[in-house]
Amino acid sequence: MNFMENILDRVEFLNQHKFNEKGQYILYWMYHSQREDLNYALEFAIFLSNKHKKPLVVYFPITDFYFHSNKRYYFFMLEGVLKTKNKIEDRGIKFLLELTNKPFYEVVIEKSRDAAVLVLEKAYLKYHRKIRQEIARRVGCCVYSVEDNVVVPIKVVSTRLEPYARTIRNKLYSKMPKYLRIPPKLDLKIKSVSMDFGFNEEHPKEVEELIKRLNIDKSVEEVTKHFRGGEEEASNKLEIFIKERLHKYRTLRSNPGYNYQSDLSPYLHFGQISPVRVVLEILKFYDRRDENVEAFFNELIVWRELARNFCYYNPLYNEFEGIPTWAKQTLEEHLNDRREYVYSLKDLEEANTHDSYWNAAQKELLKTGKMHNYMRMYWCKKLIEWTTHPKEAFNIACYLNDKYSLDGRDPNGYLGISWCFGSCDHPWPERKIFGKVRYMSKEGLSRKFDMDKYLQRIDRL
Ligand SMILES: Cc1cc2nc3c(=O)[nH]c(=O)nc-3n(C[C@H](O)[C@H](O)[C@H](O)COP(=O)(O)OP(=O)(O)OC[C@H]3O[C@@H](n4cnc5c(N)ncnc54)[C@H](O)[C@@H]3O)c2cc1C
Repeated sequence: MNFMENILDRVEFLNQHKFNEKGQYILYWMYHSQREDLNYALEFAIFLSNKHKKPLVVYFPITDFYFHSNKRYYFFMLEGVLKTKNKIEDRGIKFLLELTNKPFYEVVIEKSRDAAVLVLEKAYLKYHRKIRQEIARRVGCCVYSVEDNVVVPIKVVSTRLEPYARTIRNKLYSKMPKYLRIPPKLDLKIKSVSMDFGFNEEHPKEVEELIKRLNIDKSVEEVTKHFRGGEEEASNKLEIFIKERLHKYRTLRSNPGYNYQSDLSPYLHFGQISPVRVVLEILKFYDRRDENVEAFFNELIVWRELARNFCYYNPLYNEFEGIPTWAKQTLEEHLNDRREYVYSLKDLEEANTHDSYWNAAQKELLKTGKMHNYMRMYWCKKLIEWTTHPKEAFNIACYLNDKYSLDGRDPNGYLGISWCFGSCDHPWPERKIFGKVRYMSKEGLSRKFDMDKYLQRIDRL
């Protein structure tokens, strides 16, 4: 299989323009795939550079023009980007880092004026899809989109909204083997790293240099004690997971007293590691039929790619109105049920409720930039109980998750929240406030897990 055959299903044209012969360079706008390793968009851009004999420029604009721009996730992201810049430059490729106070689409359009081709990565969320369409409409060169942050390209899996994990699982798994074959790394024929294209380039040594100059919310502090950004850090987390945690993943993953999760979600969110790489590494050490591998792939592949399907085919993915009709109806029928506790956003944000488990979960989020998976469900379900309208609960969940979670602003987060309101779930026996939406209780947590262990773990943070 040659290079193009290998990645063909991942590539789409976003406009009708031809290759711009007069263009000076091939431009790759790096956004979702902040890595050198197993980056299909990068390899495709190298392929185009070699084919058309034009130098390649990888462009990474940094803007404070983004919702929830805060120090926590900029720090994590930029730590990774500076290391990836070095890795890409080592391959002889120009990596253009630019600090700007303009929106992405403006600066990418500006840089595309002298480009022969623009390569970008496929997006699933509304905002990102919209700016990609806008760019493709306004530039004079052809635009390719490469889908490299899923195992199987989403349209190959399904062309409609999949209602449940069980409806997408076999579709994904039956197609998967073809997409686990990785393309060879291509040698770049024209080294562009030292070429001068007249750009204003940034060569920061430290992340802080960049952070200082950005007009972002600096009150949400970095969480470097728990997560350091970068491809190498992602590989280290994966190695630890494979060596020390995966063998007990099925039984202990959901137990908040322990951490048997991979902690890969921030790295996957910023594209610092490819999900394909994660799968291939695991299969080097484990049998595909191992029950722990099966449980992990169910999250990494089935639920993660269901989340992309959910956001791509449901334009209301981040709104209360986007939940299934039965769930909306039943929650609305119970609007007037008495709420024992009602909290303000401030109380919730400051982890100031009567419930020690909930407060611990919120503190975990504030302190580490990530919350244990099982507690995420409990945390979000309680918002339904403690606000006067489920729409308010939905918005608060998105706000807090996107603001504090390193892996926030991701399709997984929107599906996770929407799931708590009934999406991709089925009706349960009816009860107050929740109606037929699945309920979770403090007693249930204590019954299942040693919650004191969780409280102690959070206290020690
Ligand atoms: C209310 C709520 C909010 C959530 N917000 C986010 C979020 O903002 N970002 C985020 O990545 N995940 C979110 N999740 C999903 C899940 O909780 C996290 O992906 C998981 O806890 C991340 O930790 P990990 O990488 O250590 O997980 P692991 O258990 O090691 O899983 C490996 C990978 O599988 C994927 N995965 C695991 N669980 C899910 C799931 N339920 N749905 C989709 N993909 C999954 C993730 O990419 C994860 O990194 C949310 C879930 C809920 C219920």
